[in-house]
Amino acid sequence: MTNRVINFYAGPAGLPLPALERAKEELLDFAGSGMSVMEISHRAKEYDAVHEEALALVRELMGLPANYKVLLLQGGAHLAFGMIPLNLLRGGRKADYILTGNWAEKAYKEAKLVGGENVRVGASTKDEKYARLPKAGEYKIGTDSSFVHFTSNNTVEGTQFKAFPKTDKPYICDMSSDIMWRPFDVSNFGIIYAGAQKNLGPSGVTLVIIRDDVLEMCEAQDLPSYLRFKLHAEKNSLYNTPPCFGIYILRNVLAYNKSIGGLKAIEANNLKKGELLYGCIDKHAGFFKPFVTEKADRSMMNVDFFLPTEALTDTFVKEAKKNNMVGLKGYRDVGGIRASTYNAVTVDNVKTLVSFMEEFVKKNG
Ligand SMILES: *Cc1c(COP(=O)(O)O)cnc(C)c1O
Repeated sequence: MTNRVINFYAGPAGLPLPALERAKEELLDFAGSGMSVMEISHRAKEYDAVHEEALALVRELMGLPANYKVLLLQGGAHLAFGMIPLNLLRGGRKADYILTGNWAEKAYKEAKLVGGENVRVGASTKDEKYARLPKAGEYKIGTDSSFVHFTSNNTVEGTQFKAFPKTDKPYICDMSSDIMWRPFDVSNFGIIYAGAQKNLGPSGVTLVIIRDDVLEMCEAQDLPSYLRFKLHAEKNSLYNTPPCFGIYILRNVLAYNKSIGGLKAIEANNLKKGELLYGCIDKHAGFFKPFVTEKADRSMMNVDFFLPTEALTDTFVKEAKKNNMVGLKGYRDVGGIRASTYNAVTVDNVKTLVSFMEEFVKKNG
């Protein structure tokens, strides 16, 4: 038995063990081909089956209606930050960006490079270090706006939209760190995108889900080919060589997710994990101090909290490691502890962390 740790890294992050074991079993001889899936032509039937299954599983798990296209691209969320304005901010179209954290700011800055003054801030909690999300009355969405961009889960700060911003404009949403954490109604979303390396698979694959009417707005013919969403949609994400192995792992992860009951079962696990972890933090409020100020905004994927001193924080990280738990050091600009509890982190994993935290308070509190 290999020695697997409990992985709380923020990204790339842990993957479900059965998805990795399946890859191990299939590695040298995929589907009787005598080759690994990395060594097969992306036009061959063996790879095609994986590609189609991955796309179909995204559709099935998320319950996507027929008027959405699913794309599997490269370049991470970062390339999507640029592709979105390059494709959509044409003919004087305007957009409002909701600033709720480090990644939302990056998306906004990239859009600004393309759209200039047509890219506006629709709300921001920067003045409060992004320790909460904007409240209902704080949004200023232009009536002339073509879409509203937001980040559903703020990976660095640990906030997460449970209810989405209220607007009649289509959403464009960076869901890199909480895609498929629960079922939700996609109908208000024009584009959903996510780098795979948190909840879906390895880095190198970007999932982009795009509604047909928004795809129709991507008419620009003067962009380099790879940057055009429409071309990828027409070619079923096989315009050029796709990240075949990454898509194969994504297939394994999604097939596993389906086998355990789909997003409803995953949501139940995630809520339980959040209850356990925040429960422990709140119980020891004199010792653990959460970064997020509004309980309703707390993320079920990234849990940021502080200990009384830097020295205790270092000890916490070191002792956790001795107890087989890695990736707990906070993001450099925030400090403290960040426990990332993506879908692959089990309820039992979080129970182990919580027991460790209880012990830690007893010894040091
Ligand atoms: C990790 C992350 C990114 C960066 O993704 P890349 O794939 O590295 O470009 C962007 N947005 C959010 C919300 C993230 O969590």
